[in-house]
Amino acid sequence: MTETTLLQHLIDGRWVTGGGEELVDVNPSRPSDVVATGPGADHADVDRAVAAARAAFASWSRTPARARAAVLRGAADIAAAHAEEWGAELAREEGKTLAEAVAEVAHGANILRYHAHDVERPSGEVYESPTPGERILVVRRPVGVMGAITPFNFPFSIPAWKLAPALAWGNTIVWKPATFVPVLAMRFAQALQQAGLPDGVLNLVNGTAAVGEAIAAHPDIDAVTFTGSTRVGRAIAAQLAARGVPFQGELGGKNAALVLDDADLDLAVEQVAVGAFRAAGQKCTATSRVIVHEAVADRFLAALAERTAAARVGDAVADGIEVGPLVDAAARDRVNAALERASGYARPVVAPGPYREGPLSEGFFVPPSVFEVPESDPGELWREELFGPVVAVRRVASAAEGFRLVDDSDYGLSAAIFTTDLGRALAAIEEVRVGVVHVNSASAGADLHVPFGGNRGSALGPKEQGQAARDFFTETATVYLRG
Ligand code: NAD
Repeated sequence: MTETTLLQHLIDGRWVTGGGEELVDVNPSRPSDVVATGPGADHADVDRAVAAARAAFASWSRTPARARAAVLRGAADIAAAHAEEWGAELAREEGKTLAEAVAEVAHGANILRYHAHDVERPSGEVYESPTPGERILVVRRPVGVMGAITPFNFPFSIPAWKLAPALAWGNTIVWKPATFVPVLAMRFAQALQQAGLPDGVLNLVNGTAAVGEAIAAHPDIDAVTFTGSTRVGRAIAAQLAARGVPFQGELGGKNAALVLDDADLDLAVEQVAVGAFRAAGQKCTATSRVIVHEAVADRFLAALAERTAAARVGDAVADGIEVGPLVDAAARDRVNAALERASGYARPVVAPGPYREGPLSEGFFVPPSVFEVPESDPGELWREELFGPVVAVRRVASAAEGFRLVDDSDYGLSAAIFTTDLGRALAAIEEVRVGVVHVNSASAGADLHVPFGGNRGSALGPKEQGQAARDFFTETATVYLRG
């Protein structure tokens, strides 16, 4: 696959060329391979997109939920039928391995189906009234025109988990995907359009951060759903709060795996490797800190070192590859620089250093790396979300100390606890303050039918996915009804 896609935008049902700066989207495994080019959107495009979404709202919000759901199901069928093809495009554009990319498109199709079904569940409440002849109802209504701003790392499934419930519940949308993944965004929008989504209901504006800023600043956006870094999410949230516009943000993570002295070590090693290195560590729920009980630390680290060194790094679409590239050169250079600094204060367990020659030096690859960080000052490897295949390790002398270190972070997204002691597993559920707790499985991963999201620095506003999704995409009205 080598053809270059013309980067376009979907505004009011038409695919158009943008008025903004020229964007060049390259394959992070082989940057000489240009995946897409074309002008990004500008302010006028965003204005047109918002106007189209506003105009479409009256009709879409009054369309029966079952008819809206039928469009989502149609789009799901189209996505599922193209899972192999679009998965290959995803791997080429974003850099996760082909197997992960195909699975992501198939998962996106399932998310569309889930929310198509969800609108047929009971959606309101009925209360008795203290007044004779009265009933009190709580009804749900769509919010209006939603701004959606999404990150690069799940270019199909994260848009699905925002746009599917937004559309199912009758909202219209102006969506800006991450700059690096316009092709998969176009595929997602095409699936909905081909399934019969009316013009203007979903508007896609590709581009840089400036396009996201224009959406967040637009006076006719009713609410914004965002997934991305904590820094950007908080900046947008602050701006919206000043204008009283609701915001939902799924933000960064610095997720720990705690390996206790009674853990199944083979399981723990494998799940830490899967959590840390899949998607080259570019998951909000990736394992980037490991806390290991001192009684098993040497054995665990020896096995993790062997497993890490054996992880095959290479072109995302090649057979047998476990770790693809990072998304762009800036991300690679940022992670490599942090690893170089770490060699000044941390003990390298697996630290091959940057690829300086051969095919891996051309792409945006970073080798999977493990460092044991000092207790006194564990440094940025422990504190910062690096978003690469990198693990910082610390030893503890007790489960209680381990639980405390899991929470030794400004973030609170996910954690993995490895133990065969049910009492300790139950204690972890009580002690650890994160939004997603895995007991004996990797910190990464999210099922589509249950609430997803973090605490503390990892989120703002209502959770996403499952039935929690409708909380942000609907508003309630309490109705005092007398005959
Ligand atoms: P990012 O914050 O750089 O960008 C996210 C989106 O915001 C992109 O579309 C970007 O163009 C846009 N943007 C950037 N600056 C903006 C601004 N000032 N105003 C408006 N829009 C702006 O994040 P990223 O690098 O694309 O994704 C990685 C981050 O996302 C990590 O921090 C990761 O943890 C987080 N993430 C969180 C979850 C979750 O559910 N908690 C899931 C996936 C990714």
